[in-house]
Amino acid sequence: MADNKYKLDVLAIAAHPDDVEITCGGLLIKMAKLGRKTGVLDLTRGEMGTFGTDQTRADEAAAAAKILGLSYRGNLSIPDSAVEFNQENKLKIAQVIREQAPELVILPHWVQRHPDHLACCRLGYDACFLAGLKKIKLEGEPVRPRKIIYASYYRNSEQSFLVDITDEYEQKCEAVKAYNSQFGDPKNSLQIFHPGESVFDIMQIRGARLGQLAGVKQAEAYSIKENILIDDPQKMPVRSI
Ligand SMILES: [Zn+2]
Repeated sequence: MADNKYKLDVLAIAAHPDDVEITCGGLLIKMAKLGRKTGVLDLTRGEMGTFGTDQTRADEAAAAAKILGLSYRGNLSIPDSAVEFNQENKLKIAQVIREQAPELVILPHWVQRHPDHLACCRLGYDACFLAGLKKIKLEGEPVRPRKIIYASYYRNSEQSFLVDITDEYEQKCEAVKAYNSQFGDPKNSLQIFHPGESVFDIMQIRGARLGQLAGVKQAEAYSIKENILIDDPQKMPVRSI
C-alpha cells in the first residue's frame, strides 16, 4: 500500500479515453481488487475519433471507470491528435500528479505508432520529474512517483515483465465494451484500432500469446527502464524447463 506522502497507489496516464482499458485494464482491475486506489488521467477527449461525440465519449469513459474500479479519472482536454511535447502540457500533467500523488505511474511504451501516444510517454515522464521540484510554479506540495512502468501493449519487443490477468480478462473486455460508440458496432470497430481487425480479437490473441509465455491464460506486458531486484531466485515464477 502507498505510504503517507502518496494518495493514489497507481495512476495510468494515456492519450485517449479507451487507451488504458485496452493497454493496462487488466492490471488496473487487479490492483483495485487488491484494495489499491487506482486512477486514470486521459490527456484528450478523443474528439478526433471517427465515431462518437465529446459527450458520448465522456459518458463511456465514466462507465468504463466504474468497471475498472477507479478512484479517480481526470481529463486534461488537450486537443486530440495534437498532443505536443511542450512545457505547458508537462505542467498540466505535473499539477495532476501533485494533486493525486500516485506511487506508481503507468505510461505508454516509449516506442509508438501514434504520435499522441509517444508524446504522452515523454510528457508523462517529464511531468513525474517536474512534480517533485520545489521551486516550480505548481500548486500543492512537491511529490514524485516512486516507480514508472510502461504498458507495452502495441509493442512486440521484449517486455520486462508480464502480469497474469486471467481472472480479470472478462472484466477488462467489459470495460472496453463500455466504449459503445467505438466498439459497439462491429462495422465501426473494424475502422478503428488496427483497421480490419476487431479490438476484441486482438486483445484475445495478444493476451493469450503473452499468457502462453508465462504459463497462464491471459497476460499483459510491461517494460521498465531499471533492473528488477529480487531476494530469492528459487521462488521466481515461470518454469525454465
Ligand atoms: Zn490512443
